[in-house]
Amino acid sequence: MADCLFCKIARKEIPADVLYEDRLVLAFSDINPQAPVHVLIIPKAHHETLNDVSAEEQQLLGHMVLVATKMAGEKGLKEKGYRLVANCLASAGQSVFHVHFHLLGGRTFTWPPG
Ligand code: AMP
Ligand code: ZN
Repeated sequence: MADCLFCKIARKEIPADVLYEDRLVLAFSDINPQAPVHVLIIPKAHHETLNDVSAEEQQLLGHMVLVATKMAGEKGLKEKGYRLVANCLASAGQSVFHVHFHLLGGRTFTWPPG
């Protein structure tokens, strides 16, 4: 996707603080962190929302979760706890229409979310 912000980050056309990368996914620091640790985990392939990820891609989704837990370990969150969030569509808070998980940690969170 030529104009997608996260595709541009995946192609290294826009700089990001990349923390992990492999053939399928990229993890980088959120530019506007909502917690002391705020990492985004994205697939390199473009999918607008979670609604657009098909059953054939369940391995990719599982891989993204495992990368998130690996990042949680690297950030020292495994014992402290963390939150893994995906906003789907604008009403849920999605602002970048390329699937991503937010890994948030380093502070206490409330429930329900706003
Ligand atoms: P969402 O609102 O769930 O779509 O999340 C999009 C996230 O992308 C927000 O937390 C933004 O702060 C973050 N973001 C936007 N632009 C950039 C960027 N250039 N580099 C890193 N994170 C970004
Ligand atoms: Zn994209």
